[in-house]
Amino acid sequence: MKTKQSGLPNLSELKKVAELLSRSQNTVVLAGAGMSKESGIPTFRGEGGLWTINGEPPLNQYEIFLDNPKQWWAEKFAPADTDSFATALDQSKPNQGHHALVQLEQLGIISHLITQNVDDLHRQAGQLSITEIHGNRYWIRCITCNSRWPKKSIMIQQEFLPPTCELCSGILKSDTVMFGEPIPPNLLETCHNATQKADLFLTIGTSAIVYPAAQFPIMALEKDIPLIEINPEITPLSEFALISLKGPSGQILPEIIKLISKIHSRKV
Ligand code: NAD
Ligand code: ZN
Repeated sequence: MKTKQSGLPNLSELKKVAELLSRSQNTVVLAGAGMSKESGIPTFRGEGGLWTINGEPPLNQYEIFLDNPKQWWAEKFAPADTDSFATALDQSKPNQGHHALVQLEQLGIISHLITQNVDDLHRQAGQLSITEIHGNRYWIRCITCNSRWPKKSIMIQQEFLPPTCELCSGILKSDTVMFGEPIPPNLLETCHNATQKADLFLTIGTSAIVYPAAQFPIMALEKDIPLIEINPEITPLSEFALISLKGPSGQILPEIIKLISKIHSRKV
């Protein structure tokens, strides 16, 4: 049962989180679709989420791709569809939450960001240490050797589909991880190693029920690494979080940055 609270958390909770962050030199973040809500991109789950309204899509997308990659690519050359989710992604820009996370990285607080989002907004904001665990919609990946390239840098010819990898001849697909598709093991290893070294773990805008992404905050809890959550709704992680800030990340994160600046100015 989910309880929704509106508005920002109280100041004392925000101050506690700002204190914890300002003492951290190794915060690892797991971000989900809620992070991009203030950029105009709907979530899948949660209030107003696309699946909450329309139901879940078929879960065998990768099987369909492997059955006939040529057809999958041919459909990419069909006239552009007017899917409202794709339009929202195309028109999106990083919001104040994305910019706040870049500032926390520049301050030496965030050491790594694991994002489930495919929208590229963390990169566009300037985040450097990042694992896009579900891929990036502007990239292409080889399903055999896992090499990745920006879509723009690859010439895909309609007469020669599916496109193949110049390194290993494997089939290329969009980097976005499909339902039923395994996540490249090298990405999971990076997330695992970052989590093992964390001194603080922050989950933002994730329902924390999509695996294997959701295993990283659980791994942090098992290592007694304090967990902070930012989400307007209660999730399976809320009861285990040291502090659970209820509200939109695009508003909460800039408030935390302001409080950290105050803490830093007191120390000078
Ligand atoms: P989710 O859709 O399952 O859950 C979103 C979560 O965000 C919910 O718990 C919701 O309460 C919370 N939320 C809603 N508004 C928020 C706000 N303003 N601030 C903070 N939190 C807010 O998302 P998920 O857990 O990331 O998993 C779904 C998968 O779908 C993802 O793994 C991702 O690959 C994909 N997806 C990506 C995008 C994107 O790239 N922007 C968008 C939708 C879904
Ligand atoms: Zn390859």
